[in-house]
Amino acid sequence: MTEIAAVVLVVEDEAQMRTFVRIALESHGFQMLEAPTASEGIRQARTYSPDLVLLDLGLPDADGSIVTRRIREYSRVPILVISARGNEESKVKALDEGANDYLTKPFGSAELMARIRVALRNVTSRDAPSVVRLGDDVEIDLVRRSVTLRTGTSAGEEVHLTPMEFKLLATLVRNVGTVQTHHQLLEEVWGPGHENQMQYLRVYMTQLRHKLEREPARPRYLLTETGIGYRLRTEA
Ligand code: CA
Repeated sequence: MTEIAAVVLVVEDEAQMRTFVRIALESHGFQMLEAPTASEGIRQARTYSPDLVLLDLGLPDADGSIVTRRIREYSRVPILVISARGNEESKVKALDEGANDYLTKPFGSAELMARIRVALRNVTSRDAPSVVRLGDDVEIDLVRRSVTLRTGTSAGEEVHLTPMEFKLLATLVRNVGTVQTHHQLLEEVWGPGHENQMQYLRVYMTQLRHKLEREPARPRYLLTETGIGYRLRTEA
């Protein structure tokens, strides 16, 4: 029995980067399609329906976020943005337009493959897990609406969260492993019209870290993505 290889469309103008990605993908059994421009990326995405799109934002003919916008008109295929550091504004734009996650250049092949696996898993698993563990420290059960904290060898004690704290945490759990922009979290948790209430997010994130992290000032699970948003990581 042969497994059908997942197809990744790489939209990237730098030939060297495409070669690097090709070696990483093919050594892990993926097939790769290449597009050096935004317009070619849009065309190939439509023609070949890839399983995942890896998208550079600095393309010669257009900002890469246009590719996200066009693909989202008809498809929920995972889109992983790759971009240089210091390009936060266009990353946020691409994420708000529906890209699933981003990677900052330069990155290693292990990091690339880990992000691709998370993006593919989040799309293929129809039933999101209702129980998520953060290392050995925390267990979150979305169905029972409970959060249990383990300290040392104790069996675990239930943590009391306010409804808003729980809603914020649940939103991060449902998107575990991938970044959520400030805008997305504010809209999801507080509702439309609150997209600019950054202070809400900061306050609640601080509260959650104090309740769930061993060292709230150096979080292991509730990570800040500077200038972009937050990411829930399950392994410290
Ligand atoms: Ca580029």
